[in-house]
Formats: sequence, structure tokens, C-alpha cells
Amino acid sequence: MLSKRASLLKPSPTLAISAKEKELKAKGIDIAGFGAGEPDFDTPDHIKQAAIKAINDNFTRYTPAAGIDPLKDAVIEKFKRDNGLTYKRDEIIISCGGKHSLYNLFQAIFQEGDEVIIPAPYWVSYPPMVELAGAKPVIVETQEDEDYQITAQMVKKYINKNTKGIVLNYPSNPVGSIFYRENLEQIGKLAVENNFYIISDEIYEKLTYDDYTHVSIASLDPAFKEKTIICHGVAKTYAMTGWRIGFAAGQSSIIKAMGNIQSQSTSNPASISQMAAVAALNGPQDSIALMLEAFKKRRDYLVRELKSIPGVTCYNPKGAFYVFPNFNNVLGKTYKGRVVDTSTALTEILLEDFHTAVVPGVEFGKEGYLRLSFATSMEVIEKGVERIKKAVASFE
Ligand SMILES: *Cc1c(COP(=O)(O)O)cnc(C)c1O
Repeated sequence: MLSKRASLLKPSPTLAISAKEKELKAKGIDIAGFGAGEPDFDTPDHIKQAAIKAINDNFTRYTPAAGIDPLKDAVIEKFKRDNGLTYKRDEIIISCGGKHSLYNLFQAIFQEGDEVIIPAPYWVSYPPMVELAGAKPVIVETQEDEDYQITAQMVKKYINKNTKGIVLNYPSNPVGSIFYRENLEQIGKLAVENNFYIISDEIYEKLTYDDYTHVSIASLDPAFKEKTIICHGVAKTYAMTGWRIGFAAGQSSIIKAMGNIQSQSTSNPASISQMAAVAALNGPQDSIALMLEAFKKRRDYLVRELKSIPGVTCYNPKGAFYVFPNFNNVLGKTYKGRVVDTSTALTEILLEDFHTAVVPGVEFGKEGYLRLSFATSMEVIEKGVERIKKAVASFE
């Protein structure tokens, strides 16, 4: 028999939809795929060359479980350069992806009886990861017409003696929202006063649009930095999702505990990928601007077209590469005699009859919405938008 832990666990719905998308494509069906949570660009050449060099240099053995010093130093430089934050080597860990950093962090700081505050819409993996650590996710809803902000007032209601942490993701997946500086300041103060951790998932830091630049909560006050563990990685910034390198920064006692967990489970992240990540962080950064330029064009097009669908509204993302349109006014209509009553039903119809893959908002804790990734070609985006328009027009 399976453990209770495993039997309660669902696979990641976003990965499940990508898998379904690939399966239909393999059958020769022309799917417009908005499911993927990864850049459609190639890893920049100088990063690939660093990996090839690592192989040729026989840098192919075990490394320290928590990562090699040159990569820790590159991460330290990154935090200094981008965020004005100073960390020492024992305050940095390299993991097998940002997700792995988050998982090990939750295992290191949460346990039975703990409560962890998660603003919704949230990234799909936070609640199950909190549960796998034995703790309880406490969901705080944020609203489209409030710019998806989280304020101290909203959070206060959920704080009690069991509150052990809050998970902040900005720019966010699935919305592309960010938190205003004054709200981050308020949350930081709450964390200090009530002695809970801030888990700051800043994986989309570099992918921001217009005049918005990322501000890390840890950089606002040394007292906040004490409470914050930043989780980050190279996957989204450098189109390196398959290389599996993430990193985290925080108090040395927590980082050490995460290292112990790694040393008893995965051991080190791939030695070759670590060398590639050193090149990514220390090398030329111009690939990011090129990627952003393409993302921005797609975002502008997608937001404009989705908004033109009667009844649909759409938040204009300030970062990341997703849009999260509101289809609540479309729900309740009928299609071929079936009431389209949920975002999941809408997703099924779009995939089966209109060959367009999106992710239902309910998976991110927000019913009535859909998540579309624009990390795909303009051609696919144009085709997909036409299909969504056609679908909605056919509802009665
Ligand atoms: C993609 C993503 C991550 C981590 O991705 P890795 O591939 O594991 O580095 C973490 N948080 C969010 C919100 C993400 O979208």
C-alpha cells in the first residue's frame, strides 16, 4: 500500500497539461499550446560552451552536496549586483532547480502543526509542498481589481501562534503581478513582529516589463533579511529549465539544514550544469533583453486580444510570461448542451474541440480564470487566440 503522503499527492497540473499537449501533438493534432511554463528560447551559446568545456575537462564527478564554491560566489555576486544584498558562502545553497530549493527549505523549516500563508492565485506547487512537510497551507485570496496586492491587513486575520511562514512570489506565476514596495514593507514588519519566515520566490526577477524593476523584500530592511529565504534559479532567466539549477539565500542555520537534506537525498546538482550556471550568472546578460523584447510584444498582443472578447478582462502582467484572463462572465453559458460551469470545463472544451491548451485558474486557487503562457511563438499565439474567440462565440 502507498503511504498516505504519496496517495494524497496529485501530479503538477501544469506539467500534466504540457504532457497532454505533447501527446495530442504526437498524434498529429495541431495544438495551440499555452500550457508550457518555460521559455521557448534556446540556452545562450556561451552557457552551452561552458558545459561542453566542463565535460571535456572531466568535471564529471561528485561535487559538494550544496554546490561548488565558484557557483556560490557567482550567486553572491548576483545578489550584490542586482539587490544590494550581502551573503556569505554558508548562506547560499545550490539545488537541483528552484523547485528543489523550495522543497528542501519547506522540509527544513516546517512541520506538523505549522501554518503557512500563501496568497492566491499561487504557483501550483506551494500547497502540496507545504503539506508534504506536514504543515497546513493557509490561503489568502488577492483580487484582480486590487492589482493582486497583499496587505498587512489581509494577512493579519490569518496570523496565530502556529503561523510559521508566508510565501511571496513576485513577479508571480500565474498572474505576472508584483507587490508594491509599501506592501512588502508592511509584510516584512508583520514577519518580524510575529516571528515567522518570509519565503521569497524571485525566480522571475529579471523578466519584468515597462518601468517596473524588481525589489527584493530582503533588501528593504536588515531585519527583513534575517527572516527571509530567497529562492531563485537560472531556469527562467537564461532559458535553462532542463539544466536543473536553482539556488537559495538565507540564514546559515537554515541553509545548512537544507544542505543536510540534499546530502541525504539528491547529493549535488549535476556538476556540468553547475559550470553552465557559473557562465550564465557571470557572463554577458544581453540574452535576457532579447528574450524580454519578444515576450513584451507577445504580452501586448495577447492582453489586447483577450480583452476584446466580450465579457473577458485581463490583468496586464508586470513580469514573468503568463497572462491570467478572467472568464467569469463566460462561465454559465452552454456549449453543445453542456453548461460551461468551471474553468476546468472550459479548459477541456478548448483542448478537445478547439485544440488549444490552457491551464484552469482553479489549479492556482482562483476559479473563473485561465492561465496562458506566452513563452511560445507569435504564430501559435495568434492561432490560439482566434480559436479561443471562436469557442466563446459559439457558447450560448
Ligand atoms: C518555474 C518556477 C520555479 C522553479 O523552477 P525550476 O525549474 O525548478 O528552477 C519556482 N517558482 C515558480 C513560481 C516558478 O514558476
